[in-house]
Amino acid sequence: MSRGDLRLFVALDLPEPLREALMDVQDGLGVGREVPEDDLHVTLAFLDGQNPQVVEVLHDMLSAIRMVPVRLTVKGLELFGGRRPNLVAALVEKVPELAALQEKVAQAARMAGIDLPRRRFRPHVTLLRFPGALSPEGRERIAAYMAAHGDIALDGSEAVTFSLYQSHLRAGGPVYEALARYPLTAAG
Ligand code: ATP
Ligand code: MG
Repeated sequence: MSRGDLRLFVALDLPEPLREALMDVQDGLGVGREVPEDDLHVTLAFLDGQNPQVVEVLHDMLSAIRMVPVRLTVKGLELFGGRRPNLVAALVEKVPELAALQEKVAQAARMAGIDLPRRRFRPHVTLLRFPGALSPEGRERIAAYMAAHGDIALDGSEAVTFSLYQSHLRAGGPVYEALARYPLTAAG
């Protein structure tokens, strides 16, 4: 990322009931750096560092997306990072509406000239991050919580917007700034 570039990503905004349910999970885990309630999201496309000039055309492309709301259902928790876990995420069911929206967003980014790597979309909401190494106590706590609640199912409400965010990386954690928000409206 060069000087002056903006760190951008596009994400689905979570409905209030799901946010609240996920905050309860976060409280139960009680380890690491918690993602603030207002920052909970499902990343649709991580765009990395982009020249500020692409923002306008990207915004036009994203504004043109006409897709329906996405029902968000959480099915299980997962520790990401393999042998060095760095976060806990709630896995989101990849329903057709969500897969289709993710593809549209990726297409919009490419049409805006962004070179987006092709990777499998695994929709999730990051709940906690472990910026440093996890202590043995932390590991135990997570293992116990996952054993008890790792198969959690939260039957979701609908996401009705997605947003373009700029991420400002700070020592205490990232600050996400919403640059624009886009509606998902019922068909018909
Ligand atoms: P931090 O990196 O300080 O832990 P963060 O990951 O929340 O914080 P960003 O790195 O700016 O902040 O990421 C913004 C969003 O994009 C997050 O949802 C993150 O998971 C996702 N993301 C970041 N990097 C990638 C990547 N290389 N591939 C896919 N998604 C990514
Ligand atoms: Mg990151």
